[in-house]
Amino acid sequence: LYFVDLSTAIMEKDDEPQATRLFRLTPREGAYHVEKEVLFVGEQSGRRNKEQFTLNHNSFPDQEFLSYERVETSVHTGTHLDAPYHYGSTCEGKPARTIDEVPLDCCYGPAVALDVQGTYSGNLITVQDIQRAAERLPLEISEGTIVLLHTGCDRLFGTPEYYTAHPGVAVDALVWLIDRGIRTIGIDAFSFDRPFKKMVQDYLQDGNQSHLWPAHIFGRRREYFQLEGLANLDALPRPYGFVLSCFPIKVRGAGAGWVRAVAIFEDDQH
Ligand SMILES: [Zn+2]
Repeated sequence: LYFVDLSTAIMEKDDEPQATRLFRLTPREGAYHVEKEVLFVGEQSGRRNKEQFTLNHNSFPDQEFLSYERVETSVHTGTHLDAPYHYGSTCEGKPARTIDEVPLDCCYGPAVALDVQGTYSGNLITVQDIQRAAERLPLEISEGTIVLLHTGCDRLFGTPEYYTAHPGVAVDALVWLIDRGIRTIGIDAFSFDRPFKKMVQDYLQDGNQSHLWPAHIFGRRREYFQLEGLANLDALPRPYGFVLSCFPIKVRGAGAGWVRAVAIFEDDQH
């Protein structure tokens, strides 16, 4: 098997709409931290002064205990899957599925990457862009395929432009894919919709609600799952003939979950 990691790392960051905080203890810090915890247990059991019953940093081999991390961030940070509940409370007239309810078979299966780099105009990936890219594949996109839109915007990751220079996916492009039995669609950009500022500016110009998060809100009418924040699609040895694994972390009732997206090639033809 040959694996290509299509995910970004969760890390301490200030530039996203919500900052990510990572609280860490190294194994050495853990050894000192546990002293305080054990002192508290000792106090409760009346063994406060009995040195032999306390743990301290010398109690552990190499004076190291266990590392520990706590992450404070959004479920939309980094590579993640959006569930229909993120788009609205109902989907196709039924209560929208939350991330823990996304069918597992939508998170694992044959996948293709459509090269739309530089082809989108007017900030939108249109149905024509998708069709042209699909025609360049040596196979038909069959029902249930996971379709990844390769924009190249992951190159902006770590810069302010990552949030302001990506395209959105046009609703007619989504219709075309969903009509072909596609349920999971990915993108190597911050969002499926155009940058916040562009959508809001257009809305303020003419008051038309369709400028605001059209791709997300379309997910109320037709169920599909958005894989956002992919990376590294350049590293795929070919844009078809692989399996994508993108199971989201199971946060009960949440609208999204972090994903380790991995492309898996079963042969050696890379
Ligand atoms: Zn999201």
